[in-house]
Amino acid sequence: MIRFWINGIPMEAEEGTTILSAAKTAGIRIPTLCYLEGINEIGSCRMCLVEEEWEDRLFTACNTTVKEGMKLLTDSPRVVEARRMVLDLLLSNHNVSCFSCPSNGRCELQDLCYEYGIDLSSYEGTRKKIERPPVEGHPFLSYRPDLCIHCQRCVSTCEKATGRKAISLRKTGMFEIIDAPFGKDWDTTLCESCGNCAQNCPVGAITEKRQKKYRSWEVEKVRTTCPHCAVGCQMDLLVKNGKIVDVEGADGPSNHGLLCVKGRSASFDFIDSPKRLRTPLIKNHETGEFEEASWDEALSLVASRFTELKTTYGGAALAGFACSRSTNEDIYMFQKMVRTVFQSNNTDNCARV
Ligand code: SF4
Ligand code: SF4
Ligand code: SF4
Repeated sequence: MIRFWINGIPMEAEEGTTILSAAKTAGIRIPTLCYLEGINEIGSCRMCLVEEEWEDRLFTACNTTVKEGMKLLTDSPRVVEARRMVLDLLLSNHNVSCFSCPSNGRCELQDLCYEYGIDLSSYEGTRKKIERPPVEGHPFLSYRPDLCIHCQRCVSTCEKATGRKAISLRKTGMFEIIDAPFGKDWDTTLCESCGNCAQNCPVGAITEKRQKKYRSWEVEKVRTTCPHCAVGCQMDLLVKNGKIVDVEGADGPSNHGLLCVKGRSASFDFIDSPKRLRTPLIKNHETGEFEEASWDEALSLVASRFTELKTTYGGAALAGFACSRSTNEDIYMFQKMVRTVFQSNNTDNCARV
């Protein structure tokens, strides 16, 4: 074990533990911006700077490991001043436009600037003078380069969490830029529209377009399980005035905050769709049209047709295929019906997408 001090508190941690992780274990908060545990640990934003009593330089807590005898300070005047400078410099290239920004109220940069008392930058960044139009060709996602703080969370999320490598960091002239695949040709790129980059962007640079339809403080969150497949991703439905307006990936054991395109963008619109079926329909064979029926009529018809088939051809002529969106209990009852009523072992479900 390595022995060290944080803010005068004696501590021990296994070799290889980062300062950030050791502080977190002790309940000491160190602010971060680019850091995403296990995904983006590149120490680029410098918000997590901490001081060591005997060293001249400051250390980034997210990717520096604790050493024997270290005496660390996480909130000294020097550290606070350094963090204020980090924010000042970030804002120098940032088009502060919180009123119209869809991330207003849930922006990590906004929160930190508020905490450290930074209103506007003391500098005029060079990138700010270049025209950086929004990239809006994608049906769900948009990218605003003028809000990007180059933290690379999106790049790492797309590569390491989603496994796509659709976003990259590239150089144009003297600048590095984030190349987000949301232009007109988005459907020819590697992007599969999962939106995990937008969820992990700490500011309003990559956002879901539907975020413009609500403010973060107008919604309540309802935790649920994605209705699409058997992976069982946890998600929060964002509900405004009784209507679901958006969805966020929650930290569930099978998804750790991630969602795929179906969970992110195809799991709630249908709830209020006028095209949604609300009663059973039975086809009128004379007109070829489906007509509304009661549940009793529909179930009697289905039961009589299954019985007819079973009597004529035997149970093996029938099969039952259950929906993976049903619960375990429903699927259990379903296979029970197929085995005992149909007298067939032809039963399965689609729970292996
Ligand atoms: S990204 Fe954050 S700080 Fe920048 S305009 Fe949007 S809300 Fe304001
Ligand atoms: S939406 Fe998904 S696949 Fe597309 S760039 Fe973002 S993380 Fe990558
Ligand atoms: S788009 Fe967002 S996540 Fe990506 S580098 Fe810019 S600020 Fe960071």
